[in-house]
Amino acid sequence: MSENFINREYIEDLLEKAKFADNAGISLSLDKAEKGETLSHGEIAALLKSENPEHLARIFEIAGNIKKRIYGNRIVMFAPLYVSDYCVNRCAYCSFNNTHNFNRHKLTMDELREEVKMLEMMGHKRLALEAGEHDQCSIDYIVECIKTIYGMKFENGEIRRVNVNIAATTTENYRKLKSAQIGTYILFQETYHEPTYDKVHLAGPKKDFIFHLNAFDRAQDAGIDDVGGGVLFGLGDPYFDVMGLLIHNEHLEEKYGTGFHTISVPRLCQAEGMNIGDFPNLVDDETFAKIVAVIRIAVPFTGMILSTRESHEMRKKLLRLGISQISAGSSTEVGGYVKRRQNEKTNPQFFVNDERDAVSIITELMDDGYIPSFCTACYRSGRTGDRFMSLAKSGQIGNVCLPNALMTFCEYSMDYGDDSFREKASALIEKEIPRIDNETIRRKTIENIEKIRSCAGRDFFV
Ligand code: SAM
Ligand code: SF4
Repeated sequence: MSENFINREYIEDLLEKAKFADNAGISLSLDKAEKGETLSHGEIAALLKSENPEHLARIFEIAGNIKKRIYGNRIVMFAPLYVSDYCVNRCAYCSFNNTHNFNRHKLTMDELREEVKMLEMMGHKRLALEAGEHDQCSIDYIVECIKTIYGMKFENGEIRRVNVNIAATTTENYRKLKSAQIGTYILFQETYHEPTYDKVHLAGPKKDFIFHLNAFDRAQDAGIDDVGGGVLFGLGDPYFDVMGLLIHNEHLEEKYGTGFHTISVPRLCQAEGMNIGDFPNLVDDETFAKIVAVIRIAVPFTGMILSTRESHEMRKKLLRLGISQISAGSSTEVGGYVKRRQNEKTNPQFFVNDERDAVSIITELMDDGYIPSFCTACYRSGRTGDRFMSLAKSGQIGNVCLPNALMTFCEYSMDYGDDSFREKASALIEKEIPRIDNETIRRKTIENIEKIRSCAGRDFFV
């Protein structure tokens, strides 16, 4: 049964009271956060509202330390794959909205294979499948796309995880997605503030706030235990939305034993058919960094995803504050990866800010001491939902993730690296060896470093 677990007055009251939080109280909350203790809603609201430079510096420092302690220097890589831009909805912020006139398209299975080939040539192993909501793009079509992608084999392996970001749907449809072995089901609430939600969703099924809000309950009922939430920052009051996101997470934890597997933090971008200046709640860079850091503090074990909506500089900064997963070389249009090869552009959903190709992003991560990870092992070995969370909370996840990240990065370096890339990669991997507990994996990694150094590199595909 659908329910509204977002109590607007309660959140507004929290934020109102947070304005009067005193410095000593906030410092005590930060001490608690530093010791890894859970903060109350009131404490989180007070951190969000604080503009005191000393508090901000501590928020950034604590978030950075949590990030290092739990996620080490691993960054999981993925790319979006748009399969259809038909949409019945009229979301004021999106260029796929049904009043915008452009030549819409849904990929045929042959076109889909061509897109996936391009993504595989960039080294991607994990995709987020994206689509508008329309009869043209039924759940059976989405399932067919997933099966086609999993069915493709390449010289360098295959796409191993297909996450899905499609409109809120029925339990029956979620069952179909589950049978197709989706990775995470991702859906952004856009905003938890119902009057704002109503204002920016002008028409179509998505206008139903409660149906959208309960989508993860239906997904869980259908057996999908990996769900990923998010809000589109720039629509409503960002602090209200952070509190909504955390309350949504708690609702899922209480009801299903596990909250969000990931939280995405998309921020509004310019798109064809809309004017970003019409949105009164745009979030500036400094506030956005604070939001990322506070989310990191509030839910330390939940992966955080940042897309190419953010600029190169912001991505660099936010990686230090809590982001654990980023996209690279992304296209936000249907057929966009093939079109890019042909220097063609039609109608992206929105304009991205980090336009670098995947290899430039991966190389910079490496130069900054991060290990780009192409790992999908948790999902493939059934470590999802509460099984993943209990491993993460016990601190054991690092022992599993580091070797897997290193193995998949070795694989990437051998399959895609040119000489200079492989030299840098082997030096980076070598530095991690003392941190690998398992003797067999340590030996295997040393062997892999030798292989990376001795194999002939290939030219990068950008
Ligand atoms: N159509 C489905 C839906 O709306 O739930 C699937 C996801 S849609 C392809 C991906 C997401 O893009 C949306 O949830 C929305 O948050 C985001 N988006 C839409 N327009 C945007 C814009 N102008 N800037 C940044 N993100 C945008
Ligand atoms: Fe359609 Fe999603 Fe865009 Fe809304 S955000 S118009 S539902 S594609």
